[in-house]
Amino acid sequence: MTKIFDAHCDVLYKMWLNNNISFKDSGDVLHVNYENLVFAGSKVQCFAIYIPESVRFDDRFNVALEMVDIFYERVIEVNPMMKLVLEKTDIVNLKEEEIGAILTIEGCDAIGHDLVKLKTLNRLGVRSVGLTWNFANAVADGCREKRNGGLSNFGREVVQINNDLKMWTDVSHLSERSFWDTMELAKFPIASHSNVYSLFQHPRNLKDAQIKAMIEKKGIIGITFVPYFLNENVQNTHIKDILNHIDYICALGGEKNIGFGSDFDGIDDTVNGLENYRGYKLLIDELQKHYSDEQISKFCYQNFVDNFPN
Ligand SMILES: [Zn+2]
Repeated sequence: MTKIFDAHCDVLYKMWLNNNISFKDSGDVLHVNYENLVFAGSKVQCFAIYIPESVRFDDRFNVALEMVDIFYERVIEVNPMMKLVLEKTDIVNLKEEEIGAILTIEGCDAIGHDLVKLKTLNRLGVRSVGLTWNFANAVADGCREKRNGGLSNFGREVVQINNDLKMWTDVSHLSERSFWDTMELAKFPIASHSNVYSLFQHPRNLKDAQIKAMIEKKGIIGITFVPYFLNENVQNTHIKDILNHIDYICALGGEKNIGFGSDFDGIDDTVNGLENYRGYKLLIDELQKHYSDEQISKFCYQNFVDNFPN
């Protein structure tokens, strides 16, 4: 079975909203649950800490800690085959049946202006740091912030700490200026869930120059299954549309820079055939019509693993 590394899902957020959801066998409530991961051949799944805008600023770090708690208590500890990943050797050493779990954060709102909070999250297991969600925070402007500002001085310190602690700096959701400021400083940039702007002009997608910059810095772009980022016909998106975005990045020379970041459980609408994590099987079937096994293994797994900094 083709191994899968998925760089972004919002399961922790859904489980935070509802205490009763079981990660093991949630039925249709979760796109990503243990049974679905096993069914489709997951090898590593990233779990994002995402704090909704509705949470008061002063409460955001606490909510981040609550999601860390959910990650350990309700994902890892009760599912013996789910294994915490802190460094690359943890991935390499996963046994046949085991699935690696990486803790990530989507947006630095939770740390406020406090680098200790960032370092604390790293000590708790976070290995990838998204600088913003859609709007501005103390670190940078997000892609929906109209002034299109870049990294603050504090944001520069955050990227430096990501470098020092060997964490990914995630550029998905950044404004264009924040993207370029970040690319100057980040040693380990990724875009965990973003598509190609030239194919569909959405502020969450990456323009050609940005894709080329990612290729130059050996960053990975997680192609995402968000219907809104694939084409204008949101109600009618197909796996073929995802392949178009892959083809495009390949044509720019990015075969070693393609991965997947589904955004499962962060989306309500889904691509036809990708209604939940099980759909990866259909995606891989479709990839097999167009790409070699070696290329598919790179896209689905190896590129992100090779790039894991720690
Ligand atoms: Zn997102």
